Amino acid sequence: MYIGGQFEKPAGGEYFPSLNPADGSLVARVAKGSPADVDKAVSAATKSQSEWAAMKPLDRGRILKRVAEAINASATALAQSETDEMGMPPTMATMSISGAADFFEYYGGLATSTLGDTIPSNSDKFCYSILEPYGVVGVITPWNGPLNQAARSVAPALAVGNSVVLKPSEFASLSSVEFARLAHEAGLPAGVLNVVTGFGEEVGQPLTAHPGVRKVAFTGSVATGRAVGRTAAEKVMPVTLELGGKSPNIVFDDANLDAALPMVLFGFVANSGQICASGTRVLIQRSIYDQFSTRVAAAAEQFPIGIDKEFPTLGPMANRMQYDKVLDYLAIAREEGATVLAGGGSPDDADLNVGLYIRPTVLADVTPDMRVVREEIFGPVGVLIPFDTEQEAIQIANDTPFGLAAGVWTGSLSRAHRVASKLEAGTVYVNTYHDPATEAPAGGYKQSGIGRERGIAALREYLQLKTVSIKLI
Ligand code: NAD
Repeated sequence: MYIGGQFEKPAGGEYFPSLNPADGSLVARVAKGSPADVDKAVSAATKSQSEWAAMKPLDRGRILKRVAEAINASATALAQSETDEMGMPPTMATMSISGAADFFEYYGGLATSTLGDTIPSNSDKFCYSILEPYGVVGVITPWNGPLNQAARSVAPALAVGNSVVLKPSEFASLSSVEFARLAHEAGLPAGVLNVVTGFGEEVGQPLTAHPGVRKVAFTGSVATGRAVGRTAAEKVMPVTLELGGKSPNIVFDDANLDAALPMVLFGFVANSGQICASGTRVLIQRSIYDQFSTRVAAAAEQFPIGIDKEFPTLGPMANRMQYDKVLDYLAIAREEGATVLAGGGSPDDADLNVGLYIRPTVLADVTPDMRVVREEIFGPVGVLIPFDTEQEAIQIANDTPFGLAAGVWTGSLSRAHRVASKLEAGTVYVNTYHDPATEAPAGGYKQSGIGRERGIAALREYLQLKTVSIKLI
């Protein structure tokens, strides 16, 4: 763990194994945090916060930019630790780490931008508003893009003067701990960023409930997001919740199908489908359904598997639990009567059988009530759904409790705008997919979350608004 500017052993003296999903080997023994470690980290964060907040914003921003440089300088090693712990192929892991550095560069530049307003009021009054940090922010992350997701919340929180206690997923802890060390060495004062490793019940829950924590940014599943929200409600504490999805990717018959094909496939197989915004429901206009679904299935069968290949490629599922969960869903799909057009299980290749690989899978002949159509699988599995009209596509796309992202493939500018405006999703991609920008806000409609990460919008998530009203006596 990393607390108060140094490595710390866990208070309970216990460690747990982190296993490589590509071959089952032991990657590391990770410190098993407890409420006592959370206390220590919150105390270090509290001690450092007021001085950090009092620092000239320009100087805070400069430090964050140095953190960005430090991440980039160690990108290969950080990426390798994520490949080892959760199976993201190295080329993709390197891009993900470089995205983490981008957050620090971007929010470093925005550290001076937290402007308040002057507010017209009575003539004998001067009224203005200022934006202030909350204090100590808890950041809780999942395992599917470990450092990128941590940086997405940590960078804006720090930029505006909060200090942070970060709790990475128990399935991918190493890059976050190493990042805290790099950030400290790059000039981040001791205690401003602390990392407590361990499990949800023993670290995540106590961190959320801790009276010294004034805001939590959580990325993970809907079920855990609800638990975090309930704990936050008891404290009346604001939360950002970045949760799951079952995003539609709609292909109209006027689309450039050659451009759509690789991105539609990538939409649900990238990172082995372990991306919150995966475009797992592929809606295809009936006039092109037969030809396009055949092409998607053929491309899925040919998608390269293994972590040692050039991008794009499919790595193993991140852990045994996720692997078993996806296989369960494939069994459910068959029971429910879906047709497997491609994939449908683990590869036969003996080299890959030691790892937790699942072939890119394409399911057809599905109905709206099937579990594989309604629930987030978080694996390389896409369901194909035909539609006739634009209106029907929108109705099917919105027929989900989620609302994280959506894709639209069309050659018509009018249709692109029309459909984008009707989709219930925090992000709509047109003629592209999995194309997030550091500068563009992202977050969920409906059960996919509360609040926004990325962009200027995210800065406001880490600030509270104070009005000052002065009587001119
Ligand atoms: P998860 O909800 O199981 O765990 C997320 C984090 O919460 C982990 O660090 C875990 O230890 C911690 N946690 C568990 N119980 C807790 C509790 N009671 N209180 C506080 N923290 C607790 O999610 P996961 O399996 O690690 O990640 C996969 C999920 O994350 C998927 O549903 C995916 O869609 C979602 N996700 C969302 C986004 C987004 O930006 N919207 C991004 C990535 C992943």
